[in-house]
Amino acid sequence: AAMREERIKKTKTVCTYCGVGCSFDIWTKGRKILKVEPNVEAPANGISTCVKGKFGWDFVNSEERLTKPLIREGEVFREAEWDEALSLIAEKMTAIKEESGPHALGFISSSKCTNEESYLMQKLARGVIGTNNIDNCSRYCQSPATMGLFRTVGYGGDSGSIMDIEQAEMVLIIGSNTAESHPVLATRVKRSHKLKGQKLVVSDLREHEMAQRADLFIQPAPSSDLVWLSAVTKYIIDQGWADKSFIDEKVNGFDEYYKSLKDYTLEYAEEVTGISKDHLIQIAEMIHDSESLAVLWAMGVTQQMGGSDTSTAISNLLLVTGNYGRPGTGSYPLRGHNNVQGASDFGSMPDRFPGYEKVSDPKVRAKYTEAWGTEVPEHPGLNNHDMVDAMHDGTLRALYIKGEEMALVDSNVNYVRAGFEKLDFFVVQDIFFSKTAEYADVILPASPSLEKEGTFTNTERRFQRLYQVFEPLGDSKPDWQIIMDIANRLGADWRYEHPSEIMEEAAKLAPLFKGVRYHLLEGYNTLQWPVKEDGTDTPLLFKDGFPFPDKKARLFPVKWTTPLEYEEKYDIHLNNGRLLEHFHEGNLTYRSKGISSKTPSVFLEISPELAKERRVVSGALVRLISPYGQAVVKCHVTNRVKGKEVYLPMNDAGNAAVNLLTSSFADKDTDTPAYKDIMVKMEIVEEK
Ligand code: SF4
Repeated sequence: AAMREERIKKTKTVCTYCGVGCSFDIWTKGRKILKVEPNVEAPANGISTCVKGKFGWDFVNSEERLTKPLIREGEVFREAEWDEALSLIAEKMTAIKEESGPHALGFISSSKCTNEESYLMQKLARGVIGTNNIDNCSRYCQSPATMGLFRTVGYGGDSGSIMDIEQAEMVLIIGSNTAESHPVLATRVKRSHKLKGQKLVVSDLREHEMAQRADLFIQPAPSSDLVWLSAVTKYIIDQGWADKSFIDEKVNGFDEYYKSLKDYTLEYAEEVTGISKDHLIQIAEMIHDSESLAVLWAMGVTQQMGGSDTSTAISNLLLVTGNYGRPGTGSYPLRGHNNVQGASDFGSMPDRFPGYEKVSDPKVRAKYTEAWGTEVPEHPGLNNHDMVDAMHDGTLRALYIKGEEMALVDSNVNYVRAGFEKLDFFVVQDIFFSKTAEYADVILPASPSLEKEGTFTNTERRFQRLYQVFEPLGDSKPDWQIIMDIANRLGADWRYEHPSEIMEEAAKLAPLFKGVRYHLLEGYNTLQWPVKEDGTDTPLLFKDGFPFPDKKARLFPVKWTTPLEYEEKYDIHLNNGRLLEHFHEGNLTYRSKGISSKTPSVFLEISPELAKERRVVSGALVRLISPYGQAVVKCHVTNRVKGKEVYLPMNDAGNAAVNLLTSSFADKDTDTPAYKDIMVKMEIVEEK
């Protein structure tokens, strides 16, 4: 028994998939995972997990893991030792910087990596190379939500805790397939709706599970949410239902905002969105009758030409109705990846230092220059959307990506891949030989979350520690160590022995995280930012006002951006999103047998009407063609979609990859690709 106890180990970790941030104990013996055991102390999930958190871990021991650095030789790669790979990287980066300046290099951090690793990536870009060309994948998802919240309430995170959502009298879900994308969070809404009479309204193109459960489900025309949101807000004000005392006391800009709503009548909204006036009035009445409203939204809102403006319209509605600063109220932009919140929080953004301090602020720059002992660049850098254009025009010559599968998850991937081919030097750091790695010059083997220590920040701004379960496989290393090695080869003298030291440095610099220390995050202890110097955290934002000089929020006028226009032959609107079982391009979940055996491939959801018109049945193989590329996929006829609206899950890395079809058009305020604004035509490849 003694021997058995020595060999079986229980370690607390945090899920590496979605932004809910479930934490649990993982039981192991050697490198074998025995079971995943939820723990009542876990703040976001308690005793629940979803199928990914429970069964999605086999990838860690996959034979396909990268275990050695690889260096390109012509068309093939050869294995190399770390020393050779690091020397080559230092030599090439130095040469390109000398020839073309620091801004010829770009850096992309990962929302799969820890906060500490994102901090080091931006420190490498800014402090060692001297460029603000640093970004992360929130550019692909939630940057518009952050923008909408910065404009109106000042903090770009969920207003309260996941638990608080249960207290909302009314929940409005817009463009979020919550039951599949954020399953454990969705169960809280399902429970409150069923047991506590919480009112639920869902707006989506597709009738997913939450839509089926809703008291009212609306299917507005694609890209039109801003219109009905603004019309409902105007109607509420016109009925005298605005929260006057909240606005007088806590909100600026009401008059100008109200003027901006002039055209957003119920009639206009009905015409544009297709939602009946009656339903819009019903929504307004439900909001008026509810003590508290929480709005949950995701990519269906943000991945549009006007994603930031629609996010702003949501926040405007919440301000007008006094729905901030109390449990069960506020904004919940649901973060996709486990640490997409943290990647931005810790400065992997071209215009912000850690804690969202602006790079354009000379005082903030002076602080970093002093702390790091190097000048930091003044002008905001390129975001990852700009970086692709800069690869094409030759101004970006070198790129270092860690843990991002840009060749599949960016929009219009044919264009992205052509950009990679133009780079003079490309470093990809990953745990697998990804699609992106095919274009690299050097590939560095990293360690996944179970092989390292660090912290993740989930969608509710909550810092959680993960503990090392296994030693890094083969010669792979935790990302923070690799970044440090590269920085030191480039002349820095970083000596971090543990991620806790990185966090301490970051927390001392960024006021938002001032009191964050590892000893406060032991085991299942957590902190939600902002964290004061004495370690007091902030589960609920805006209780004592908003983070602006006068403590008042701002109503921010916005206008509807019409959807893109396509030639008539592209007559089908293509929606896209997740499947419950798989995560994004599937690099992890397809390598986890517990999952891939159950859900081996994706399928195109097509409405019975369209199936009849085009004479296809479930199982038929079709080709989708957009102005940007083609994809081939099997059909599944279902009532979940209606009319000429089809839905393709994004979880395919091959011929059915949705981003072979999407465009390079983007939200005008943040450059987040308009993944959801795409029209296609359809051809039958194989009848069933
Ligand atoms: Fe992981 Fe999200 Fe599932 Fe929780 S809900 S187990 S965080 S994928």
